[in-house]
Amino acid sequence: MPRTDYVIDEMISAKSIAARIEALAKDIEAAFSGTEKLVVVGLLRGSFVFIADLVRELDLNVEVDFLEASSYGDGMESSREVRILKDLRGEIAGRDVLVVEDIVDTGFTLSHVVRFLESRDPARLRTIALLDKPSRREVDIKADWTGFEIPDEFVVGYGIDYAQRNRNLPFIGKVRFVE
Ligand code: 5GP
Ligand code: MG
Repeated sequence: MPRTDYVIDEMISAKSIAARIEALAKDIEAAFSGTEKLVVVGLLRGSFVFIADLVRELDLNVEVDFLEASSYGDGMESSREVRILKDLRGEIAGRDVLVVEDIVDTGFTLSHVVRFLESRDPARLRTIALLDKPSRREVDIKADWTGFEIPDEFVVGYGIDYAQRNRNLPFIGKVRFVE
């Protein structure tokens, strides 16, 4: 059962997130300047706010698609065994693809998703994660672009949940349990 006795301390403000996304969008535009139409793939559900803000900063032709991989359930620990729960709707063979993830933690999810999509022979596959917890890594993988490196804290907000709550917070906050 998820605990309900917690408070959320702001860690990254909505303003800082917006400024970082503006800078990331410039880098991504430069990297994909020759691309006819970039397929931006959001990993459900945690990346839905990030992808919405990111694509609106991108001055590129984009197609938006979504992939869902199994994750934490309602708990706070990675399952390590990753399954694809919902596949893409579109084709990515021969196309340029940007995978958008909320958090890279142990690295199992992103590495599994990258292998899964690489098997379809995209022209270029790149990854972006809003948050990175390098101290938690178990699989040797790093997103091509990262918004913020954060310490080993359980975070919520800006699309990211605890037991399906708090996704609608405009900032990233850390969960602190209280007695
Ligand atoms: P990994 O497979 O890298 O261990 O975990 C990646 C996934 O775990 C992320 O996409 C995210 O859904 C979830 N996750 C990792 N850290 C946190 C966290 O601090 N808060 C929440 N809510 N989910 C997290
Ligand atoms: Mg996720």
